[in-house]
Amino acid sequence: MNKKEQYKAPLYGRKNITTTNKKYQSLKNGDYHTLCKTLASIGGLNFKCYGDYEYKLNEIKENHFNFTNPNWEIKEEEKIFFIRHDIDRCLITALKMAQIENKYNIKSTFFILLTGTYMSHWLKNIKNLIIILKEIESLGHEVGLHYDMYGEYFKNNRDAHTTLSTQLTLLRENGITIKGCAAHGGTIKGMLRSKYTPAHTNWTIWEELFPTIRDLIVNSKKLSLPALSLTKENLYYEAYFVEGFGDTPPAYISDGSGKFWKFSAPQDNIQTNIISPSSLKDNIKKLKKTKIISLLTHPHMWLNGDERSSIMTNNLIKNIKNFKL
Ligand SMILES: [Zn+2]
Repeated sequence: MNKKEQYKAPLYGRKNITTTNKKYQSLKNGDYHTLCKTLASIGGLNFKCYGDYEYKLNEIKENHFNFTNPNWEIKEEEKIFFIRHDIDRCLITALKMAQIENKYNIKSTFFILLTGTYMSHWLKNIKNLIIILKEIESLGHEVGLHYDMYGEYFKNNRDAHTTLSTQLTLLRENGITIKGCAAHGGTIKGMLRSKYTPAHTNWTIWEELFPTIRDLIVNSKKLSLPALSLTKENLYYEAYFVEGFGDTPPAYISDGSGKFWKFSAPQDNIQTNIISPSSLKDNIKKLKKTKIISLLTHPHMWLNGDERSSIMTNNLIKNIKNFKL
């Protein structure tokens, strides 16, 4: 097996799309009501958190990447629908989304990044960070970890294992249940893209998913891989690597650059398409064979023009300090 195949990413959701078609409207905070109402009206969608399942690791096959395999039980007439939120910047918007979903009996999984400029301000006010995460859990949702170990190692010289265990300890010791994780694109994504084809993304750090021993070298700095273990940290899944149902891969929907949806459903022969926000329902209804759908949002992309200033540094620091439930 050649190196390219060995590091191949999952089929779904990893197509590079660079277009930014201006004709589509921005996704806005207010629109999230509409989205949830729309999803709830489709029927047959069973909204689940990733942690609702038990996972086992697949047998490692010929140095290939691996998947975590859930104990699916899916009724004939239903589809499992995971909503996944990657909280890169905006925890308060994430909470608003959690509240909106709760109104529509939708549950979802919120993956929190604890590194980077925006989220670093929250680490100076852990009390309010934890209050929000606990509130998200109490609304019936799950909290998971969004991680950028390559960025931390290559840019900030932080050891991957120490970074991971510090983050997990912070969350768990404050009473947040963390069962799984989802990779952040990462601050050195561009560098890794230009050097490795297909790109290394944070998920290649895990020994259970990419067991081959190799070195990752960026600007003469070396990281020996695999560097981390899901199992040893009591993490049961990586959201990008949750296996489909039988031989049907999941459909993957992402909020793109905040102007459109990226839509891909290999099982129904829909490779990656860009669709307008308003055609999401029609596209979901077209899925015949797909049994698992996963929809990714980035909460900060759901802020409108005025609200966007709420995450500018000065406003953010004030908003974090003054936050009340
Ligand atoms: Zn991210």
